[in-house]
Amino acid sequence: MKRLLVLGAGTAGTMVVNKLRGKLPRDEWQITVVDQRDVHYYQPGYLFIPFGAYRPDDVVKPTRRFIPDGVDLIHGEIDQVVADQNLVRLVDGTELGYDQLVIATGTTPRPAETPGMDEGEWRKSIHEFYTFEGATALGEKLKTWEGGRLVVHIVDMPIKCPVAPLEFTFLADAFFREHGIRDQVEMVYVTPLPGAFTKPIASKYLGGMLDERKVALESDFMVERIDPETRTLVSFDEREVAFDLLVTIPLNMGADYVARSGLGDELNYVPVDKHTLQSTQFDNVFAVGDASNIPASKAGSVAHFAVDVFTHNFLRHVAGLEMDEKFDGHANCFIESGGGKGMLIDFNYDTEPLPGKYPLPGIGPFSLLKETEVNHWGKLMFRWVYWNALLPGLDLPLPALMSMAGKEIPVERTS
Ligand SMILES: Cc1cc2nc3c(=O)[nH]c(=O)nc-3n(C[C@H](O)[C@H](O)[C@H](O)COP(=O)(O)OP(=O)(O)OC[C@H]3O[C@@H](n4cnc5c(N)ncnc54)[C@H](O)[C@@H]3O)c2cc1C
Repeated sequence: MKRLLVLGAGTAGTMVVNKLRGKLPRDEWQITVVDQRDVHYYQPGYLFIPFGAYRPDDVVKPTRRFIPDGVDLIHGEIDQVVADQNLVRLVDGTELGYDQLVIATGTTPRPAETPGMDEGEWRKSIHEFYTFEGATALGEKLKTWEGGRLVVHIVDMPIKCPVAPLEFTFLADAFFREHGIRDQVEMVYVTPLPGAFTKPIASKYLGGMLDERKVALESDFMVERIDPETRTLVSFDEREVAFDLLVTIPLNMGADYVARSGLGDELNYVPVDKHTLQSTQFDNVFAVGDASNIPASKAGSVAHFAVDVFTHNFLRHVAGLEMDEKFDGHANCFIESGGGKGMLIDFNYDTEPLPGKYPLPGIGPFSLLKETEVNHWGKLMFRWVYWNALLPGLDLPLPALMSMAGKEIPVERTS
């Protein structure tokens, strides 16, 4: 028997085992997946918990439910990969051998990496919504918060779902309006980027949406430390931003065992070929989802499109054939904008988000870079799609590679 070992049963790892169990012969391939948790979190739902729109138990289900028959699920924490011996060691001492290894252990927020962040004011006036615990604690805080200076802040890129801090800001603006306290809240968006977002056209649209909502933008802000006593963010170039309530996105980093195993870059992401997801060091190691260093958004949609390409290539790879499909970094993100509306962006390594319609040219039903109610319903529907189609590895009628059909190139970009 040949052994496929998948590290991590989150979004990407679960899709990989579901897709491959149906395609690798059971009498030839044993498939094992390891995760330290026995529950699976729907992370896009963390955005809605602070505003009471989702309850905490809307986003959690047992991991086991999504692992197909014929795949062994091991509950344990990974300690190290010894890649030159094709071996993975767990913290409890268990050793697992493999012929092919898929690393899918994602990325997590690291508040301890910024001085002053997780000290006396952590979960009091300093909050985050990138973890289940953080989103729930922030929900409790917002229930009784009477207003003041709310600062939404990103420590550094890359972060998972890079639009989520903007969505949080738009939803917070709508939430304070609904509760009749918007005029008692001053809102500031603090980012290390030169504008509201990474790509120029989307950045212009999204920056305009911050202006409309009277949210001040503090750009190019590289935080050095947080002073919890004076409640101030301090940057390396000595700018200061005061807050009454800080909602920060801490530095995101890949799993520590990746670094211990000599498989990571400075943020513990696994260097891979950006088209095949194969490790640049070992031919029988792949990294899918947020764990890799591909220059795409760290998003469930990217994991989904990448896993489609990976599955095709992996089957060829183990059959001794050339991997002939090239992943293009396709990302597709709904952006909640408050008041029952949302936007959609669709882009890849080479093409930035553009206006237009998706997935059908001229018809949609979704509109790109435009706030519509249909986009909002798309975002809400996505939770059902995630649990019932995406994780079980069903084929969705969306091409893995980005298409230019339906996209409009703004006039100033064509000349
Ligand atoms: C607030 C928020 C909003 C988001 N919104 C969207 C959105 O609207 N659209 C979108 O596409 N994406 C969104 N995302 C991003 C999306 O959730 C992630 O990109 C996606 O889950 C990545 O999948 P993954 O499998 O790479 O990692 P994960 O799903 O995070 O899975 C990693 C798994 O590895 C396990 N693991 C890690 N280390 C170890 C270890 N040492 N030992 C054992 N197990 C380990 C973890 O327990 C976990 O189960 C959002 C994320 C957040 C936080």
